[in-house]
Amino acid sequence: MKYISTRGQAPELTFEEAMLTGLARDGGLYLPAEIPVMSHDEIAALAGLPYEEIAFRVMWPYVSGSFTEQEFKDIIARAYEGFGHDARAPLKQLNENHFLLELFHGPTLAFKDFAMQLIGQLFQVALKRRNDRVTIVGATSGDTGSAAIEAFRGLDAVDVFILFPHGRVSEVQRRQMTTPADSNVHALAVDGDFDDCQAALKDMFNDFDFRDGVKLAGVNSINFARVLAQIVYYFSSAVSLGAPHRKVSFTVPTGNFGDIFAGYLAKRMGLPIDRLVVATNQNDILHRCLSGEGYFKGDTIPSISPSMDIQVSSNFERALYYAYGEDGSAVAQLMDELKRGGFNVSQGAMEALRESFDSGRVSEDETLTTIKHTLAHSAELVCPHTAVGIKVAEEQRAVAVPMITLATAHPAKFPAAVEKASGEHPPLPSRMSDLYERPERVTRIANDLGALEDHIKGHIAE
Ligand SMILES: *Cc1c(COP(=O)(O)O)cnc(C)c1O
Repeated sequence: MKYISTRGQAPELTFEEAMLTGLARDGGLYLPAEIPVMSHDEIAALAGLPYEEIAFRVMWPYVSGSFTEQEFKDIIARAYEGFGHDARAPLKQLNENHFLLELFHGPTLAFKDFAMQLIGQLFQVALKRRNDRVTIVGATSGDTGSAAIEAFRGLDAVDVFILFPHGRVSEVQRRQMTTPADSNVHALAVDGDFDDCQAALKDMFNDFDFRDGVKLAGVNSINFARVLAQIVYYFSSAVSLGAPHRKVSFTVPTGNFGDIFAGYLAKRMGLPIDRLVVATNQNDILHRCLSGEGYFKGDTIPSISPSMDIQVSSNFERALYYAYGEDGSAVAQLMDELKRGGFNVSQGAMEALRESFDSGRVSEDETLTTIKHTLAHSAELVCPHTAVGIKVAEEQRAVAVPMITLATAHPAKFPAAVEKASGEHPPLPSRMSDLYERPERVTRIANDLGALEDHIKGHIAE
């Protein structure tokens, strides 16, 4: 499989090259040159298979040529062996026709583990073969950093440095970043806010001497390998509810549009998905856009579902690429307009988006009420992101088609909001109940590019 850029001006790459590169040289995002299609019989044959086997069959056409079958099977096995549930992504029934897809049984209790754990193993195998190593630097407001640390800890081809804003992440999130004991893991508490961390990261990528010197690599959500891993659970859950013989719909708590875009690819691959519903919190640029109001940036307002507090959804560019008939220059032009504040979507592209996507927006109060109601009526304690999804799904679901809402994080990751809404304190799963006792290892560091770069250069393995 060859990979092409959404802006049409970057060289075609293999899967492995696209994964190691991340962002395309023309500023665009990589996509497969063709979306592979699975036949009705191939999809039907997935029913009852272990998650790992479904993962292999769904992802293989995207990666073949970069890995052998056996390599890829071993990569998948290692990626998911640390999950706390044998089904990996179990389905729970909320009411007659509404189901919750639990994506929080990975090591850091959020769905990002599905992609990060796989990408860690993919990097390790690819880099070993090239006899190479990289330095991964990420900036996080919470979930992505801990998922990256868990994915890369102990891998000898990689050093991982995570910048987080000192004093501004939850205690669970901080401890998940500071308690891994592996020597290739480096948690850096920056004296600044999340935007400072992200700006420092960007400056490092633009400092070419530093970038080449430490072989800097990124694993943020624009990396196509992350999208790829997320396609799998759309198949596993739909098949367990009767696909391809009947249709299903999905509602997805959305920030950067990575998770729901994986659902779009599943649909294009032949999975009979009726509706893909985007659920946003008060940071609702996607809901406004899908309602026909154009794609215009506002100010980010902090919410109780912080992993969705996003104004520009980086992966939406991929959906626009298909909505604009795979016209890279049209996408490049839109992204230019976005730099100046935003753009209106053409009528044709709007129709294309509406063929697959619906959307809804949920206020802070509604989020709290939904947590409370879901506990009372379905005996499930859900995280605030998941509650945003449940609320929108209940508004949008059609009686005839089962609705699957993605449960993106474990309630124990956001204990304050959950307790406020429900009066119940969500306990950590037993496998990490000693999180509060484990020793922390963290370097507090000034919000200063030179200091950060010196620290990283001084701490990478030779
Ligand atoms: C990252 C995240 C989201 C948003 O996912 P996107 O792929 O960015 O749309 C939703 N919920 C939780 C808990 C997350 O960590």
